[in-house]
Amino acid sequence: MTGSPTHCPYCGLQCAMTVSGRPGAVEIAGDPAFPVNRGELCVKGWTAGEALAHPERLTSPLVRDARGVLAPSSWESALDRIEHGLREVQTRHGRDAAGVFGSGSLTNEKAYLLGKLARVALRTRHVDYNGRWCMSSAAAAARASLGIDRGLPFPVEDIALADVIVLVGANVAETMPPLMQHLRAQRERGGTLIVVDARTTATARAATVHLRLAPGTDTALANGLLHVLVRDGRLDEAFIRDRTEGFERVRAVVASYWPERVERVTGVPEGLVEEAARLLGQARTAIILTGRGAEQQSHGTENVHAFINLALALGMVGKRHAGWGCITGQGNGQGGREHGQKADQLPGYRSIEDPAARAHVAAVWGVREEDLPRSGPSAFELLDGMGRDGGVRALLVMGSNIVVSSPDASRIERRLRALDLLVVCDFFLSETAALAHVVLPTAQWAEEDGTTTSLEGRLLLRHRVFAPPPGVRTDLEILRELGARLAGSRLFPTSDAREIFDELRRASAGGPADYSGITYERIAREGGVFWPCPREDHPGTPRPLESGFPTPGGRARFHPVLHHGPAEPTDDAWPLWLTTGRLLAHYQSGTQTRRIAALSTLAPEPFVEMAFSTAERFGVAPGDRVVVATRRGQATFAARLTDDARDDTLFVPFHWSGDRRANTLTIAALDPTSRMPELKVCAARIARVVKPGEVA
Ligand code: SF4
Repeated sequence: MTGSPTHCPYCGLQCAMTVSGRPGAVEIAGDPAFPVNRGELCVKGWTAGEALAHPERLTSPLVRDARGVLAPSSWESALDRIEHGLREVQTRHGRDAAGVFGSGSLTNEKAYLLGKLARVALRTRHVDYNGRWCMSSAAAAARASLGIDRGLPFPVEDIALADVIVLVGANVAETMPPLMQHLRAQRERGGTLIVVDARTTATARAATVHLRLAPGTDTALANGLLHVLVRDGRLDEAFIRDRTEGFERVRAVVASYWPERVERVTGVPEGLVEEAARLLGQARTAIILTGRGAEQQSHGTENVHAFINLALALGMVGKRHAGWGCITGQGNGQGGREHGQKADQLPGYRSIEDPAARAHVAAVWGVREEDLPRSGPSAFELLDGMGRDGGVRALLVMGSNIVVSSPDASRIERRLRALDLLVVCDFFLSETAALAHVVLPTAQWAEEDGTTTSLEGRLLLRHRVFAPPPGVRTDLEILRELGARLAGSRLFPTSDAREIFDELRRASAGGPADYSGITYERIAREGGVFWPCPREDHPGTPRPLESGFPTPGGRARFHPVLHHGPAEPTDDAWPLWLTTGRLLAHYQSGTQTRRIAALSTLAPEPFVEMAFSTAERFGVAPGDRVVVATRRGQATFAARLTDDARDDTLFVPFHWSGDRRANTLTIAALDPTSRMPELKVCAARIARVVKPGEVA
């Protein structure tokens, strides 16, 4: 192997790669020895090096001057401005007037230090991150049902060995192409793939059975599948009796989800519901995987419960090559939700309201337990409160482009403009950075050390391969400097990633996500270590549910759930469903990928995908531009007509900004448990069709 071993900066698959060359001429190769990607990378991974020497790279802090212009500044005066701004806001409005917004893309060390900065230096309860909009519904359901939130509670390699895979609301052929080799291997072994998706995606086209449900009807479909399995006596009654609790209430609930009714609600023909249930009922091993399609809904937690119920009723959870898992999207979506940048959480996946957890973490940090703030509002609520009484007046953003990725984004953009101080740390002038009072230029993935935790709970090591450009600092250096200025160097002594990881290990010790036995050396030597890993001589835990369920009673818990439908139903004025998602060529808000030539050539602009019949109904022809409207605003997209769409559903990718921003349209209806916004479904209409040559 030539080049330095590391991992991709983008999605939760965290493909292993080697990096060599120099910025401007970086060579990247997939690592064939890593069992997750086995040498494969997607086009985003291959081209990730281009961002390092990109001409738009920020190399100097920017501070908004008296004319309102972002002008280059020294680090000292930019940091002075931030320190004084934070102190002034907190003096005038109280500690909670300062807030912190993090990201599922940050390394574990950054997520940890960002949470510590919020709790120890700012002592604010206003800290949350964009992962709230990504995996929080799956996390909430998994914790309640299985006692643990570890995306996949088994290695990715298990996927190829299951008889049946059910993939719900995840288009991995576009978002995580190297994962498809595991699905192909499963098919080659004689396995069956069932895809549940409102669109006929590239992944759905690879399926044995595609259940093309209406957006927002996942619970009805899962309950319908379980109804058939109960009716046909295909349950694992011994597992239900010996290892679980609460099934009788689920049995009663699913009794009314007979296939004809499920077809009326979901649009999935009853014959396909029967067929999918039959395949599941006959499987010796089945894995059910949920993604954002099912989770980013105002009933996302219930949707996940419905699919976990299915896996439990079949006795699949805790069994080898079987179970339920969540396809985590962001690069460190898993680790990012374990170490304290979430509003209700302390490192090690501990609750900030748990007295023992508070005492443990306070002791590691060298502060008094009573000085730690309590739980705060979730991401959207934090942002929606900005500039209002009791809300945040000064916000530090790290690794997130809120202006593009927030639901109901125009509303959040207005709230950002109401802040007294907005500080954004980024390596490009993102749409959010462009609104900031201070922008700090940061290092990128190949310019710093750190760990991430993949979608399967495997800790991985990213290496510094190149020095950052002159004028740029790492996020850890920024956090350390701010922490030391606000709370003293004793509490923020270092910006060294390994030393911070060692502190994180102590803080996580004894918690649900226990990293205390994992070291940089072990990760490098073993190619990754699965948590929990409580001792250095502990082998790590690839399949944590094989030894039992870490719930209070040791049993998995069924949750009876009913179909409710989306928060905003369609009607005569808003007759279409709008759903949003990702494309192969772009990642999240597109801050990086829209700047990479090969990727922007592949996907230069967003589109609205609709069925031919829908296009005919609304007078849309190929080449037209379409103004799509919801109750929150409108945006314009090129029409893409396809056989792949339902005739009641529009699809728009969400990687773009301005008048092409999909999240201008999305709704912020929040799941009552996870506080996940309903990014995946709202009512829309085609407001206007702009013919070629007309002005939009
Ligand atoms: Fe990177 Fe994800 Fe593509 Fe792998 S699948 S190369 S981790 S973006």
